[in-house]
Amino acid sequence: MVPNTISERLFHRAQAVIPGGVNSPVRSCRSVGTTPFFVKRALGCRLEDEDGRIYLDYVGSWGPLILGHAHPRVVEAVRFAATQGTSYGIPCRMEVELAEKVVSMVPSMEMVRMVNSGTEATMSAIRLARGYTGRPKVIKFDGCYHGHSDGLLVKGGSGLATLGIPGSPGVPPEVVAHTLSLPYNDLDAVETALKAYGETVACIIVEPVAGNMGTVIPKPEFLPGLRRLCDTYGSLLIFDEVITGFRLAPGGAQERFAVRPDLTCLGKIIGGGLPVGAYGGRRDIMEKVAPLGDVYQAGTLSGNPLAMAAGFAMLQELSEPGIYESLEKKGEALEAGLREAARLADVPLTINRIGSMGTAFFTDKEVSDFASALQANTAAYGVFYREMLARGVYLAPSQFESFFVSTAHDREDLDRTAQAALESLRVVK
Ligand code: PLP
Repeated sequence: MVPNTISERLFHRAQAVIPGGVNSPVRSCRSVGTTPFFVKRALGCRLEDEDGRIYLDYVGSWGPLILGHAHPRVVEAVRFAATQGTSYGIPCRMEVELAEKVVSMVPSMEMVRMVNSGTEATMSAIRLARGYTGRPKVIKFDGCYHGHSDGLLVKGGSGLATLGIPGSPGVPPEVVAHTLSLPYNDLDAVETALKAYGETVACIIVEPVAGNMGTVIPKPEFLPGLRRLCDTYGSLLIFDEVITGFRLAPGGAQERFAVRPDLTCLGKIIGGGLPVGAYGGRRDIMEKVAPLGDVYQAGTLSGNPLAMAAGFAMLQELSEPGIYESLEKKGEALEAGLREAARLADVPLTINRIGSMGTAFFTDKEVSDFASALQANTAAYGVFYREMLARGVYLAPSQFESFFVSTAHDREDLDRTAQAALESLRVVK
């Protein structure tokens, strides 16, 4: 194909020097049968591509942009921080201020350590859980994604689900021998595994609301049941709130569901869109981290002043009154618009939504775990994605990801999206 648009030409050049032309696999748009557009700039809930096309954005950089793109408060914080130096590698005030803010907002976190990505956060939390308990095994759930560290690349969601890859070559079997992956929302499976391996299970890591097999909501007994089972068997409970932290409530899913994990992983949101992650939790566990304890974890760019400033500005803004009520209403309106469009177009959709995140699965069956998510018609989703894009609405280029609404989306944007969905679903049909 001869490239016509600037995006196509850039993708052509990118493929020569970057594997698949992208720096993270889902961005390639392969699973939705197209190629990526290249972003020139973004403001509020809109992206502009290199060819000058404008899209309403429901991906928000995969979750962090709860306030939309280039929020003035965040931009100003980064601009000022940049004039003071871009990296110190030694302590600075903003690290303390962001850590205090995170600890004040997230109910179970008494101490926190900053890292540079969600992958680092989960990897470090698991090392800490193993160091603290002296046990080797980790329980995770099919379709949950906790980043790309070796031990967690087992039946993962996100890009693995999108590309149909269960694990990855390059990860020796011994490295994942201690990782058990169980069906999401299945407490009996967890209890059975703990009965068999309880003495050796360091931790259970879970997305408290799954976002990486599409949005899957925990059944009412699931999270409290995990807490109870962890207490019974002396394993630590880790909530991976890289997506849900600060999105579902100021204190994340743990606040919304009133379940306290021992450790929490946070990601992209606390960087306001800059590369940050964090892990933290109970003081007695966090005191095992070096230099206080002997569990080692470090990072040259950890606590980077630009990222800390952006994150602090973001969390201050999210602490303003009314933000979460408004996000809830916008999420509700988007869901209602999609449901009505599906009804009018007579296309069966199962919509899972909580607050400002959700997924429209192309199936008429309930989606409560990875197996049921995989029943969705991905070819139909591909058509839907392309039709929506043609109407100026950018959704995740995969059935197994979530949509995210930001404070920047207004009623008119949501109505336009519902109209685009109706037209697009009529084509799918
Ligand atoms: N955990 C969850 C729940 C995620 O959604 C992601 C990424 O999307 C990660 C961990 C990994 O984060 P990162 O891509 O910043 O390494």
